[in-house]
Amino acid sequence: MLLLRFRYLPAPRSAWFPSPFSFRFFRLLHESPMAATQGSGGALEKPALRGLVFDMDGTLTVPVIDFSAMHRAVLGDEGYVTAKSGNPGGSIDILHHIEALAPQEQRRAYEVILDFERQGLDRLQIMPGATELCGYIDSKQMRRGLITRNAKASVDLFHQRFGLKFSPALSREFRPYKPNPAPLLHICSSWGIPPNEVMMIGDSLRDDVTCGKRAGAFTCLLDESGRYGPLDALRDDLRPDFVVSSLAEVQSLLDAHFELLPHPQKAQPSICVR
Ligand SMILES: [Mg+2]
Repeated sequence: MLLLRFRYLPAPRSAWFPSPFSFRFFRLLHESPMAATQGSGGALEKPALRGLVFDMDGTLTVPVIDFSAMHRAVLGDEGYVTAKSGNPGGSIDILHHIEALAPQEQRRAYEVILDFERQGLDRLQIMPGATELCGYIDSKQMRRGLITRNAKASVDLFHQRFGLKFSPALSREFRPYKPNPAPLLHICSSWGIPPNEVMMIGDSLRDDVTCGKRAGAFTCLLDESGRYGPLDALRDDLRPDFVVSSLAEVQSLLDAHFELLPHPQKAQPSICVR
């Protein structure tokens, strides 16, 4: 089997911002939808891209929720430690844990989460580069959607506060939620665009990248702080096609690696207002 692997090694961390060439990327042509096709002239043609789907918290908005504190408040100290140690990556799928609770405990747990999310809304900030990236996507007449494990009320407030309209925008009321690919496949279906012409962008390997990979979409991990470190050793179902350290890098990535195509029937124009 032919395996072609390209990787641009990252510049030193201090040089990552804001160079347009600072993104790291991975291409596994036999495994990802990145498979380029060979044109009649023999040159490799860029794959088509017609839509982008974003995570919200930590991707379109600056991270403000203390997830460790939230998880500890829901699970208790002992349950928190047990949940952390039971997961090789140390991350906790809190919604999954809540679903295993008795109904009364579930209600209490959701109230705790909503309280943390409400506090987060008070400090909500748009992620640097998000407005510009949305404007660029709109200028190409591409689609943009949103998938979050946050509540619909938070998505509504996000739309109101920043004037950015994503459609569809699926919150955790849509079941099953990420990392299940169902919400992303639902968006692709509603757009009439195949998943291999869509990119999922988010700051979580476990939720966003896994959701995108399972759906058969391109995936881009936003890793602002370098918390994930080298990704070469990751399993195929977790390894993103691209890694960026800021949304400002995404436009260059799109221009360099994709044929950006408008959706043929853009019935619901997106709004992007500063
Ligand atoms: Mg996130």
